[in-house]
Amino acid sequence: MIVAMQEGVDEQLIQQVIEHLVKIGFEVHRSTGARMTVLGAVGSGIDFDIRNLELLPGVQEVHRISSPYKLAGRSFRPEGTIVKLANGIEIGGNKIVVMAGPCSVESREQIFTTAEAVAKSGAKVLRGGAFKPRSSPYSFQGHGEDALKLMREAAEKFALLVISEVMEISQIPMMLPYVHILQVGARNMQNFNLLRELGKVRKPVLLKRGIAATLEELLLSAEYIMAGGNYEVILCERGIRTFETYTRNTMDISAIPIIHKLSHLPMTADPSHGTGRRDKVSPMARASVAAGADALLIEVHSNPDKALSDGAQSLFPEQFAKLMDELRMIAPAVGRKIA
Ligand code: PEP
Ligand code: MN
Repeated sequence: MIVAMQEGVDEQLIQQVIEHLVKIGFEVHRSTGARMTVLGAVGSGIDFDIRNLELLPGVQEVHRISSPYKLAGRSFRPEGTIVKLANGIEIGGNKIVVMAGPCSVESREQIFTTAEAVAKSGAKVLRGGAFKPRSSPYSFQGHGEDALKLMREAAEKFALLVISEVMEISQIPMMLPYVHILQVGARNMQNFNLLRELGKVRKPVLLKRGIAATLEELLLSAEYIMAGGNYEVILCERGIRTFETYTRNTMDISAIPIIHKLSHLPMTADPSHGTGRRDKVSPMARASVAAGADALLIEVHSNPDKALSDGAQSLFPEQFAKLMDELRMIAPAVGRKIA
């Protein structure tokens, strides 16, 4: 940490700050210039709030250099994490994994038709909500365990894996036999009790960025899961809320290379929730692959106009097939392949 003192400050105040830093466990290196004094404070594992230091008399500014997340940070595993799933599918390696399917599982016919279509185009994981976090309590809330049963059956028929959202702790044991990846939705990114419980599970978790979450907050949420011993965390950018209203959210493509710099965890892009509009999903999916995404999560529906949730952002199966062809051309340009 760097503590810059105010220009021309009294030596007595500098000494007070040094004493304070030493008291909380730091080793202090002082550098005195012609006008300013800068203190370099070194110490690992010290839990402190930089605002307390900023308030000390004579302090100009304080900058944290080391990251507050230890397990999720890049230095924990500089080579990167590869999450191994069934069927030889891996997320975080050279191959980009495409997860696709409807927003919600609605009926047997819907999930089987959609699963067949996405598998034919090259998706490896079937997405679909059984528990839906809807903004309105009157909107369709999902079919629960029945949906998971149908989804697993459809996935097995077309050699796909399953990802579905877990909304609360009590759902975890019931969901485990049906899913290969547990998804934590944007609204639950800071449900710390749920995250802690998922830390005890030995199954990959896809953690979505909250609608107003910074990347540091996303990584701290990943840290909650990892602190419990579950290191199989996959992060996901799904758009954040900004002043722009043209799209449902603002898809932050820069989150992809930033997360790759800050963390060893694989990074997914969800351009469906990121834009909320079918016509903008493919361009953002292409951009995400170009930016280095390790996986994509895309909503596809056999009949989007009749969808019970997120129809407007769901691709028609033909659009998804075309997108997959495009991604197969873009991936090699950035040294990757589509799984
Ligand atoms: C979803 O994937 O269907 C979903 C609800 O996503 P998010 O949590 O990103 O809104
Ligand atoms: Mn959705």
